[in-house]
Amino acid sequence: AKRNKRDTACYYTNEIGQKITERYRLSSQLKQAIKNEQLYLVYQPIVCLLSGKIKGYETLTRWNLDGTLINPELIISLAEDIGVSEEFFKWLLKTTLASCNHFLKPDQFIAINVSARQFLDINFLINTQYIISKYSHVKIELEITESSLIADFTETINRIDSLNTLGIKVMIDDFGTGYSSLSRLKQLNVDKIKIDRSFLHDASKDQKSAGIYQSIVDLAHKLDIDVVAEGVETTEQLLFLRQFAPIYMQGYLFQKPQINTKQTAEFIIQDII
Ligand code: C2E
Ligand code: CA
Ligand code: CA
Ligand code: CA
Repeated sequence: AKRNKRDTACYYTNEIGQKITERYRLSSQLKQAIKNEQLYLVYQPIVCLLSGKIKGYETLTRWNLDGTLINPELIISLAEDIGVSEEFFKWLLKTTLASCNHFLKPDQFIAINVSARQFLDINFLINTQYIISKYSHVKIELEITESSLIADFTETINRIDSLNTLGIKVMIDDFGTGYSSLSRLKQLNVDKIKIDRSFLHDASKDQKSAGIYQSIVDLAHKLDIDVVAEGVETTEQLLFLRQFAPIYMQGYLFQKPQINTKQTAEFIIQDII
């Protein structure tokens, strides 16, 4: 038994060691990838349930490393490790704005993810203001996660107000997962909340979860905040969402994130219902 224990301990030590080495190796590969422009963007439509129209697109980052797609959440955390998260955001904003004009219609918005670290960076506002100045015609929305609110609530309120002054709308992403209280919503000048897909998944399974979903949507609408339902994968989920007529939706049911080389269809729901 003693021997087994030692073997196990030994096994784990090696595994952790391997993970650290692997992470270190990936970090330096990321530096190269950024330099060699090997990161690229895909876009996923956000659809209006009432009209069936595409209202905007979310930008998502991809890194294809010798045939393997690296999880974007890992990319973001590696970028933080090697101290390039600010640079990464600048790249993301610039590249998105420079490329979205190929498919974005004038009334559609482009939504860009900002990590908590990026959002609270000292240069965040100045960088953003500088980059967007050349793209005043593009409707920009920034998706910030609930963890940004938790990190520094007062600063977050101020930064959201500054973004609004710049003409940028703000959306709270992964809403419901961050344990920030619902009452805080009224202090934030946000345009939308995006309810995390785990809630929709549960809502189509049981009544209590459906009730939670309904309360979140109702509260947001009462506060005059729009709602995006994330992770719509099935027609059942779409039917569930129909009770909240003015709601936005995003998910594999409509379209997976993809490289938009040309304009996609304006309407997207008709084919499904
Ligand atoms: P997120 O912001 O919550 O983005 C939504 C994720 O859900 C995306 O995964 C998207 O591909 C996926 N998704 C969309 N529809 C469906 C669906 O119907 N079902 C399921 N199961 N998944 C769906 P992705 O692209 O792998 O991104 C994962 C996370 O990585 C994002 O979560 C976001 O937090 C982060 N991320 C991705 N790109 C960026 C970026 O450029 N900057 C920052 N800061 N974060 C990013
Ligand atoms: Ca997002
Ligand atoms: Ca999300
Ligand atoms: Ca997420």
